[in-house]
Amino acid sequence: ISLANQIAAGEVIERPASVVKELVENCLDAGATHIVVDIEQGGRRRIRVRDNGIGIPKAELPLALSRHATSKISSLADLEAIQSLGFRGEALASISSVARLTLTSATAEQTDAWQVWVEGRDMVAELAPASHPQGTTVDVQDLFFNTPARRKFLRTDKTEFNHIDEVLRRIALARYDVRFQLHHNDKLVRQYTAVEQPEDYLKRVAQVCGTPFSQEAISVESESGAVRLWGWIAPAAACRHQADVQYFYVNGRMMRDRLLGHAVRQAYTDTLPEDRVPTYVLYLELPPQDVDVNVHPAKHEVRFHQARLIHDFVLHATRQVLTAHAP
Ligand code: ADP
Ligand code: MG
Repeated sequence: ISLANQIAAGEVIERPASVVKELVENCLDAGATHIVVDIEQGGRRRIRVRDNGIGIPKAELPLALSRHATSKISSLADLEAIQSLGFRGEALASISSVARLTLTSATAEQTDAWQVWVEGRDMVAELAPASHPQGTTVDVQDLFFNTPARRKFLRTDKTEFNHIDEVLRRIALARYDVRFQLHHNDKLVRQYTAVEQPEDYLKRVAQVCGTPFSQEAISVESESGAVRLWGWIAPAAACRHQADVQYFYVNGRMMRDRLLGHAVRQAYTDTLPEDRVPTYVLYLELPPQDVDVNVHPAKHEVRFHQARLIHDFVLHATRQVLTAHAP
């Protein structure tokens, strides 16, 4: 298995943040409402993700680690209407080929928890009894221990942790209803509490993007036919983090789309006197058949069937809000 896994792993698993992304998406697919991420040494030493999701039945534990074993697609028709975030069935296989991975899980039906363990080339997938509440823990240690070339590409712990932080921010802004905790070297670094009501969403935004942004944020709410844009935009650049607050979600997925980015930038140049860095957390919702999100999953690009219309809708909606609040 291993060589193929390692080659494929290169594409999926670039750095600790990629591991975190895959693992947390699995938790969400499993219906978790509470996800705890523990990082040691920027993730090179350890990445542990715990959830309270549905868990993995004992018999399926070793299977979860094998390539193309996904429980999420049962027919080709499913492929077209993919709801779950992960569907390729290779994340765990890829990660376990370049790290020491322990998978522990308990389901609601089972009274006991079970564990499997894999280490790089050596599949030590032995089932052992464990202690675990309902849900799953994936513990990834010594990432790239058997691939020195990849290990060399890792940056400082701080940089790697910042990437992890960013991955979690993006996910946290997509799932207000889930509680997230992020620890680095045993210290609680981020805590995103779950919010249920839309009127409380800005609390999550404040936790994720910082209070400077949330205090400046003006809410956007615009609808045209079956297309809706909502979220927040801030007239002044204000951000806790080094990176800009520029989050655009299309049907729940974070995108870095040129067309959408251009529309918001245009709204800024049209309304604000000087050069300002656009800061926004925006959600575009439209019928799934009007958009193709699988153009390139890694690049976060989308293809709208009516690109011009979407561009102008986003431009008008944001420009209107900025005009109303222009200094
Ligand atoms: P994919 O997510 O594409 O199906 P993965 O390699 O990420 O592939 O996961 C393989 C399988 O392991 C999943 O299909 C799922 O059945 C199971 N699994 C992984 N993580 C979890 C989790 N946190 N909770 C429940 N099941 C999980
Ligand atoms: Mg997955």
